[in-house]
Amino acid sequence: MTGALKRIDRLRFGSLKLRIAVLYTALFAAVMTVIVLLAAAGLSRFAEESASRDLSANARVFDELLSLRAQQMRNSADVLAHDFGFREAVATEDSATIDSALLSLRDRSNTEAAFVVGLDGTLLASGEARIGSPEALWYPLDEGHDHGIIKLGDQFALAAAAPITAPDTLGWLVIAQPLDARELERLTRFAAIDLGAVVKSAANLPPFLADKASDAIVEHDQNDARYLYHVSAITTLEQGLEPRLVLRHSLTATLASYLELRNLLILLGLVALAAVVAVSWRVALTVTSPLQKLDEATRLISEGRDVKLTVDTDDEIGRLASSFNVMVAAIDERERQIVHAGLHDVLTKLPNRKLFTEQLDLAVDQLRSGERLMVVQVDLDGFKTINETLGFDMGDALLRDTAQHLKREFPEVLCARLGSDEFAILVENIESDGQLADIADRIHACLQRTVNLDGRPLETTASVGIAIAPDDGTEGGGLMKNAELALARGKNDGKGTSQFFERSLDEKARLRRQMEFDLREALRAGEFELYFQPLYSLQREELTGFEALIRWPHSERGLITPAEFIPLAEDSGLIVPLGEWVMREACRQAATWPEELSVAVNVSPKQFTDSRLAETVLQALSASGLSPARLELEITESIFIADVEETLATLHSLRRLGVRIALDDFGTGYSSLSYLRSFPFDKVKIDQSFVAALGSDRSSHAVIRAITTLAQALGMETLAEGVECQEQVEVLRREGCQNVQGYLYSRPVPGNQIASLLPRRQAKNELISA
Ligand code: C2E
Ligand code: CA
Ligand code: CA
Repeated sequence: MTGALKRIDRLRFGSLKLRIAVLYTALFAAVMTVIVLLAAAGLSRFAEESASRDLSANARVFDELLSLRAQQMRNSADVLAHDFGFREAVATEDSATIDSALLSLRDRSNTEAAFVVGLDGTLLASGEARIGSPEALWYPLDEGHDHGIIKLGDQFALAAAAPITAPDTLGWLVIAQPLDARELERLTRFAAIDLGAVVKSAANLPPFLADKASDAIVEHDQNDARYLYHVSAITTLEQGLEPRLVLRHSLTATLASYLELRNLLILLGLVALAAVVAVSWRVALTVTSPLQKLDEATRLISEGRDVKLTVDTDDEIGRLASSFNVMVAAIDERERQIVHAGLHDVLTKLPNRKLFTEQLDLAVDQLRSGERLMVVQVDLDGFKTINETLGFDMGDALLRDTAQHLKREFPEVLCARLGSDEFAILVENIESDGQLADIADRIHACLQRTVNLDGRPLETTASVGIAIAPDDGTEGGGLMKNAELALARGKNDGKGTSQFFERSLDEKARLRRQMEFDLREALRAGEFELYFQPLYSLQREELTGFEALIRWPHSERGLITPAEFIPLAEDSGLIVPLGEWVMREACRQAATWPEELSVAVNVSPKQFTDSRLAETVLQALSASGLSPARLELEITESIFIADVEETLATLHSLRRLGVRIALDDFGTGYSSLSYLRSFPFDKVKIDQSFVAALGSDRSSHAVIRAITTLAQALGMETLAEGVECQEQVEVLRREGCQNVQGYLYSRPVPGNQIASLLPRRQAKNELISA
């Protein structure tokens, strides 16, 4: 029950605006009511008091009227009392004359009774008046009273007396008028207020008026109406009478005129109340509407929405709004800090594992077809040892430095710290397969470095494990795991490794990618070597120079031949820096050889399309001091596939440097012979497939003859590659070939073994000519 009441109460005053309005209105209504009540009470008190004042004043007026009337009557009586005839009639007691005079006086003075009282107290003439007791009149008359109340029959009447002298007093002429209702009403008409008058004997007064002093005012209610009564004693002209004049004035009627005023007051109060309701509603609105907005804003904020209140006043409400905005901003900032703290690593300020995997999931989801992304997990090598030997402060410093280094090197890429010495990198938007190894290489390379810790240089390396999406997984967790597996596998192999996740590609592709990566490392580390194979002149029967052939001594796989990695280097563009190195290195070594020996350097078609080729050659020559004539560039027919014009232009510019140009692997492809005519090569190297076929296939004799004949005609030298036995030498010599190269003379040897080859030149010469 009480619960229900409370609920209703809460419902009714559920809104502050209503509460304020009701409160104001109630307060005002209470004040108004008190004012109206006080005013009404004051008004009725005032009305009552003025009514009783009016009554007293009018009572005096009424007295005045009575004595005026009495005076009037006395004057009339005086005129007759001085009349000679009348006096004589009284002296002679001539009743007929007296009676007729009295009658005419009655008419003249408009009274009801006129009579004569003798000096002895007898009634000399009654004039038909019903006098009770003449003796009772005698004493007052004898004492000189000339007016007052007497009784006529059972009625009180106003009487006036005039002495009749001749010259001694003979008696008194008295005229009287009954104070009946009509007469009194006539008199009250002269009063300023509404009065009722009655004359009563003191003994006959109603109880509420009995024993009241003269001139007392008494209130008495009668038939639901309120009256004021005024009682006063009136002068008598007859002994034994106690007449009282009772005046009645209606208080209700007086108050009625004030009632209008009170109603007006109440009406005014009500109008004011209505105005107060409107005003307090308005006030409530101005107070509560900002509060309502605040409430709404708070609700929106709790829903996680962005809210800003507009501050359009500079009062308390405006200040509240701006404080609220400040508070919201502070909460936002705090939230941002908390979120940041929850998603970032305290030590390095990098994103943590949570944020990284979140971003990774997002990136994997948004992966477009054909596009790839790379997840790289990094582990610092020997971090545990650094911590143990240099202390945790150094360890922390290394982690911070690594984080900064990563951010510096890869500003566009998400780098995170996963925990202890593990970092992760997310590379997105990889458009071609070819970029993968390059990126992996850059990441790996940037981690092998010297760190300055507290003024102390520290060589650090890191191992890297790589997973590629979508190949290695289409979901963040799986990719992370695979990158970690790759990392673990690399760690097994030693420090500073970089491993692609295996299952992702078929083994060949993986190897290729791995090799591409290794190739870069090798180039950077200067792991390549040049081997040299002698070029032998059959005509002069002597060594004329060497062909430089690149070798890659791989830590695990031993010496890797160019057939395996040159195509890869060409695909990845690495051939350009690699070719530059070969050019420089070949020239450098050749410069140390006897002057009659030249060096032949293989130039890939890829290098040929690179504008820097001539510059590279020039630099190699000037750096080594080798004469251009001792350098021979070996190119293949495939360079003509692209832009023939441009190729020729490049060839000419190279030739202008003074170097020799040889056409390598001649006869293996295309419409070979026509190329011979397009450029004046210095040498044509007949491909080893023709030499190898010499024993079995007679037609190869014809081919070799055709080549040598044509070359001779064009003024070009010829060289046969892959010469392995003496028989081949004989045939080649017969068919007009001038130079040979092959295992028969020497396999390619490292540069440092060239010296040992030179003395054998004589011995070989003897062997061949034999
Ligand atoms: P190539 O220019 O035709 O080089 C000759 C190849 O034949 C060399 O193989 C050499 O070892 C091999 N050879 C020499 N004599 C004999 C023989 O009597 N019998 C047999 N079966 N082979 C013999 P290598 O060194 O493995 O080089 C392979 C190819 O790699 C080269 O073919 C050349 O095209 C390319 N190459 C080597 N070094 C470089 C280089 O520095 N730059 C460029 N662009 N390509 C190079
Ligand atoms: Ca060659
Ligand atoms: Ca060749």
